[in-house]
Amino acid sequence: MTTIAVENPATGAVIGTVPDLTADDVAAAARRARDAQSAWADLGYDGRAVVLRRMQRWIVRHTDEVIATICSETGKAYEDALLAEVSYGAAAFGFWARQAPRYLADVRVRSAQPLVAGKRLVHRYRPMGLVGVIGPWNYPLTNSFGDCIPALAAGNAVLLKPSEITPLTSLLLAEGLRECGLPDGVFEVVTGRGATGAALVDEVDMVMFTGSTSTGRLVAARAAERLIPASLELGGKDPMIVLADADLERASTHAAYYSMLNCGQTCISIERCYVEAPVYDRFVELVTAKVAALRQGVPAGPGSVDVGSLTFPPQVDVVDRHVSEALAAGARALVGGQRPERRGHWYPPTVLVDVDHDMAIMREETFGPTLPIMKVPDADEAVRLANDSDYGLCASVFGGDLERAEQVARRIDAGAVAVNDAVVNYTALELPMGGAKPASGVGRRHGREGITKYCRQQSLLISRWHLRHDVHTYPYRPGRSRLLARVLAVLNRGRRTA
Ligand code: NDP
Repeated sequence: MTTIAVENPATGAVIGTVPDLTADDVAAAARRARDAQSAWADLGYDGRAVVLRRMQRWIVRHTDEVIATICSETGKAYEDALLAEVSYGAAAFGFWARQAPRYLADVRVRSAQPLVAGKRLVHRYRPMGLVGVIGPWNYPLTNSFGDCIPALAAGNAVLLKPSEITPLTSLLLAEGLRECGLPDGVFEVVTGRGATGAALVDEVDMVMFTGSTSTGRLVAARAAERLIPASLELGGKDPMIVLADADLERASTHAAYYSMLNCGQTCISIERCYVEAPVYDRFVELVTAKVAALRQGVPAGPGSVDVGSLTFPPQVDVVDRHVSEALAAGARALVGGQRPERRGHWYPPTVLVDVDHDMAIMREETFGPTLPIMKVPDADEAVRLANDSDYGLCASVFGGDLERAEQVARRIDAGAVAVNDAVVNYTALELPMGGAKPASGVGRRHGREGITKYCRQQSLLISRWHLRHDVHTYPYRPGRSRLLARVLAVLNRGRRTA
């Protein structure tokens, strides 16, 4: 069997190998998963919740080991793994254990239609069967493994294909699930490259994909060939708008933090910033000081560094190209801006000004530690530029007049917008999250749709009346039909069926 070497991107050291599974291997895993699924579904919500809650406690007990694994394969800072991964994962197990029975409970439906009068109508959810999850490398727990949790809570078996760059976290968590009593076969990690992901799409009943827009398109096309649903969480180029009455301390702290968090490799990180002219100079001054003070280095436990390395080797080239092209076209780097000569995969926290909207750094997903800042005459121009993008994942608006800031937020074409905040909306598992434009994805994670998408839907109609005939059925008789026509005409004239 061929294997894939896993590297610590901060040091360049090889830290493990995983199998590069073939399509046959994936098909065998799918068979095992299908065999195991019905017993898992039969456990019911309470039975499954026992395992999910055990896993919540397992993550808390194994925090250090999980963080060490995440940091070693991503190069991210300890706190990035603690706050955005371990804490998310533990909370998600508790949340879906508690909410699955509520979100997926039978819904009693009322209808004004006369032909179903007196009958019981029910809308219900059943597990899809076998769900495939394909994930990216930037958040191996939150974005790869995290999407498996509601799928399991709904009673599905799950195959997870993590990124070839960061498979170790998923394998560790699969071990945890086994220790917590998840029956064999219900959850399997199929490691491999893109071909393994493609093979997964050919086996499952539904695919949940998180990754780039270009791969998302391939996954959607392959899923469409089989007519299986695909939920896609894709790229972003999230704008931040700073209005003239904003609290600049708060706005600049958030700009520095949420553009550099996870070395900028967050789908909803602040990727570009528009500042109203009167406060532009002061805002730039504050952000520059805050970003210049960041400590970047190889993570070595709590508080050791603020910013780690990049995770995906080719990402350094993307960041370097965006910054170099911007500098060549007249932008200025107030902090960073130059690729270092250093073992591992590094780019320094970088603040750019004098950027314009033709530059790749303002239009394409950079996915690195960069913050380009642009001066705008007013909020209208900020909104116009924020919306001038193929992407529409998240956005943020900072302003002192909350009503005005909210009005600005409502004009932004993004799946989620935060006012005087950014990114943390992701941690509210009750709040749906997903793209508003196709390049940022189709479908939602979190909230009700975050679990109903893993289900087949069934509508039930139960006739409780013990009549031999309903009034509209055979045999047709002239008198009865005329009476029926009159009744229907009256009903359809009135408000009841509106
Ligand atoms: P990719 O699209 O490159 O890869 C995502 C996953 O798809 C990986 O596991 C990859 O495997 C796999 N894959 C590659 N080719 C195929 C294929 N033909 N069929 C099926 N699967 C395939 O994304 P990245 O890993 O580079 O992740 C970064 C991107 O993810 C960014 O654009 C970011 O914005 C987005 N993202 C979006 C989020 C959201 O919630 N909207 C959250 C997090 C990230 P392998 O890695 O082994 O090649």
